[in-house]
Amino acid sequence: MDSEEAAALEEELESVSGELQAVEIQLQELLERQQELIHRKNLLNKKIQRLSENAEAGSSAGGGDCAENWRNEDFLWSQKIRRALSDSFQLQTFRSLQLETINATMSGRDVFLIMPTGGGKSLCYQLPALCSDGFTLVICPLISLMEDQLMVLNRLGVSATSLNASSSKEHVKWVHGEMMNKKSQLKLLYVTPEKVAKSKVFMSRLEKAYQGGLLARVAVDEVHCCSQWGHDFRPDYKTLGILKRQFPNSPLIGLTATATSHVLKDAQKILCVQKPLTFTASFNRPNLFYEVRLKPSSSEDFIADITKLINSRYKGQSGIIYCFSQKDSEQVTMSLQKLGIRAGAYHANMEPRDKSKVHTKWTANEIQIVVATVAFGMGIDKPDVRFVIHHSMSKSMENYYQESGRAGRDDSRADCILYYGFGDIFRISSMVVMENVGQQKLYEMVKYSQNLNRCRRVLIAQHFDEVWDSAKCNKMCDNCNSEGACEEADISQYCRDIVKIVEQADRMDEKLTPLKLIDSWVGKGAPKLRVPGVQPPKLLRHEIERIIAHLILQQFLREDFSFTAYATISYVKKGPKVNLLRNDKYTLSISMRRGGSGPDKVKSPQQSTSQPSAPGVSMATSKNKSPKRQKPQKCSVAKKIKVSPDDSIVID
Ligand code: ADP
Ligand code: MG
Ligand code: ZN
Repeated sequence: MDSEEAAALEEELESVSGELQAVEIQLQELLERQQELIHRKNLLNKKIQRLSENAEAGSSAGGGDCAENWRNEDFLWSQKIRRALSDSFQLQTFRSLQLETINATMSGRDVFLIMPTGGGKSLCYQLPALCSDGFTLVICPLISLMEDQLMVLNRLGVSATSLNASSSKEHVKWVHGEMMNKKSQLKLLYVTPEKVAKSKVFMSRLEKAYQGGLLARVAVDEVHCCSQWGHDFRPDYKTLGILKRQFPNSPLIGLTATATSHVLKDAQKILCVQKPLTFTASFNRPNLFYEVRLKPSSSEDFIADITKLINSRYKGQSGIIYCFSQKDSEQVTMSLQKLGIRAGAYHANMEPRDKSKVHTKWTANEIQIVVATVAFGMGIDKPDVRFVIHHSMSKSMENYYQESGRAGRDDSRADCILYYGFGDIFRISSMVVMENVGQQKLYEMVKYSQNLNRCRRVLIAQHFDEVWDSAKCNKMCDNCNSEGACEEADISQYCRDIVKIVEQADRMDEKLTPLKLIDSWVGKGAPKLRVPGVQPPKLLRHEIERIIAHLILQQFLREDFSFTAYATISYVKKGPKVNLLRNDKYTLSISMRRGGSGPDKVKSPQQSTSQPSAPGVSMATSKNKSPKRQKPQKCSVAKKIKVSPDDSIVID
């Protein structure tokens, strides 16, 4: 082959490759656009469906699907309801959506109510139970939750009881009798889903009660447990469809604090409910201040940070600290106790007796702070919780919303502070890797934590398919409240460097943990993992982490898991979009905080990467520039950024 022909072919190859890459970029952009449009299409379809259902129901029943149409007090049962509210429940007014839900279920419609925790969902079936003949069957996932409700009801003098595995024979017999007794006073019967799924005797009693017109309605509490897309899937909830199939004329009411439209649809299908009314209370909690902070890299710094908050801003005030693991919760508790703070640990591995001791003492303000895992959850109803601190992010946005939502039930201001740590991404993803959509949900949480410029309320609302105007936030989140502007920084060259390191490790069959990746990039760790020509970035540690997390979220990198007998370890590999970076013209940017006191601001010098630099190179002040980075088009934005060393990018 003569050299001229070879050169021509090379040239053509280059041009074809270039074009191919351009096509790949376009494809990628089109795919993203497709996702966006699908989402919008679904939302529009939902709206149209609601409108048409509304018109249909409006012409037949007089109510319609719109909550407003149910806000009247001229129904046949209205007077009775009012009386029960004040006489039995000793309450004067309804909270938002309570009256609507009660009217809808009293009219015989199936209803789904989505309302934040503490909003007052129980009243929506307890009150109708008192105003209907027969009894209401309440499905409840936890015995402790039932007991909390039964305690309140019994104090109010409402006849209510439960059946569970530890019920005595006599009690079971009595309940079975009451279920078929037309003159019975029993108004509410609480059972776990297992009872419905596994007890034929119980089902046969229900059947008889239904035939005798005594099964007034069925309430399914925490209805998101039906769906495996939800955050609390309970297999026995899957069998509850039998209730609507066997007892079609007893209205069903499903209640939950967290259900995306996806989970809700799934739950409706599983429960065999057709055309239910769905009422959704806003997820906005105007009194909660949402904030994300960078997690200090050492646990001593972290404890110092939290202690400062507890001893100043939250002095004498009640709070919760949520931790990732039982070990974390015990360690944090001990550290705080040593500093004289009244803290108590709470996790699933504790004796029930010890758990309830901590809960009780905290409720009575003898303990200031519960340092808990997710096990401290449903049924926690202390009104004056002034702060919920997340020692590690939650495993999903639903979890975060629920956990942080335990703050400020009394409607006074409360803070929800999430400490975002890069290492936590991988700790949690190794844990959720077995779950169906565990990683996807975790990445939503990471996106929330990485976000520096959008209203936290907008981000939360988006997650729950609610439209929210950030102006209504009233600066009650860090991003709305922050003075420091964000700037888009071009990180294309950094990303290419990172990918080079990942590729080299790949070639060497080396498993690259995120930590090793950072080490190699900043010129530390195993020399064989370093790539000639890749210069240590002139960035702070948290900026380096931010970029790597961004690349994972954007699928330029991906996590790969390795299972040992003792642990699941996360490694970094090239992601599906990595080829886009091959094209020189492709640029990638990320917003970086400049100035101000936002969450991305480094608080302690330990967090700066100035120490782990290559010999003779101090990253924050180095004048050694990689030749590539000097090209103006590559680093155009980053080069504009000139801020003090503890703020942001320090390229000059
Ligand atoms: P959810 O199930 O939505 O988390 P609950 O039904 O447990 O909430 O109610 C939370 C608290 O709100 C309870 O202490 C309850 O007594 C109170 N509550 C409910 N409805 C009202 C109301 N209309 N007025 C005042 N307090 C109410
Ligand atoms: Mg509840
Ligand atoms: Zn905001």
